[in-house]
Amino acid sequence: MPDSTQRSFTASFTFDAELSDFLPTARRNRRLTYHFNDNPSIKDAIEAQGIPHTEVGWLAVNGGPVGFDYQLQNGDGVDVGPVNGSPGVAAPLPLRAQPPEVWRFVLDVYLGKLARLLRLLGCDALYRNDYHDREIVQVSVAEGRAVLTRDRRLLHARVLEHGYWVRSTDPEVQLAEVIRRFHLRGQTAPFSRCLACNGVMEAVPKEAVLEELEPKTRRYYWEFWRCAACGKLYWQGSHFDRLVDLVEIYTAPD
Ligand SMILES: [Zn+2]
Repeated sequence: MPDSTQRSFTASFTFDAELSDFLPTARRNRRLTYHFNDNPSIKDAIEAQGIPHTEVGWLAVNGGPVGFDYQLQNGDGVDVGPVNGSPGVAAPLPLRAQPPEVWRFVLDVYLGKLARLLRLLGCDALYRNDYHDREIVQVSVAEGRAVLTRDRRLLHARVLEHGYWVRSTDPEVQLAEVIRRFHLRGQTAPFSRCLACNGVMEAVPKEAVLEELEPKTRRYYWEFWRCAACGKLYWQGSHFDRLVDLVEIYTAPD
């Protein structure tokens, strides 16, 4: 009796070094043999090896560009490259819809601090601490938001177009990662979003908010902003200098 689980065909895969974070150490930076039956799509074959489709920027088979629906053939030599950087093949085929002109995000439940930092830079960053994975995917598709997540399995969802697996656990390093991946440097509008709810902030004259202020705030501060969504009032408080530093570090054009 032939073993029905035996896989008859092989293809070799080379993943760009940028994608090696998704591979076990022993499988990094080398040509990998992939065993398969039938003719799986190249997308499925890549995800079976642990790389979410949202992280793939270009594909080549035997030196020529292909798309995600290419069906793997016995003996194929596959090169897989990341979203950022120059493609390793001439005239790569687009793998997904064009990115939006201005990125908007939806973040998973582990990324609350990153959400606040993105809002500080003026990015539209939707976050709730009770989101289910399927809600995140739904919101991403319905509103054209890129998913930011610490859970790489979430990015395997077929319907997703844009997403990124956040590597670091440090919120400021995470911010730097997202700025690099989505080319946000020089594209931001600091202090235009509410850190608490992601609403849009508007400058308000001091006279309009006098009655809401503690005596010290009334005495020392002159510029105020109010969130149009939740009504929260902001002014240049004790953390402000630190926030200004952060904004300067992360938004100055290269
Ligand atoms: Zn708000």
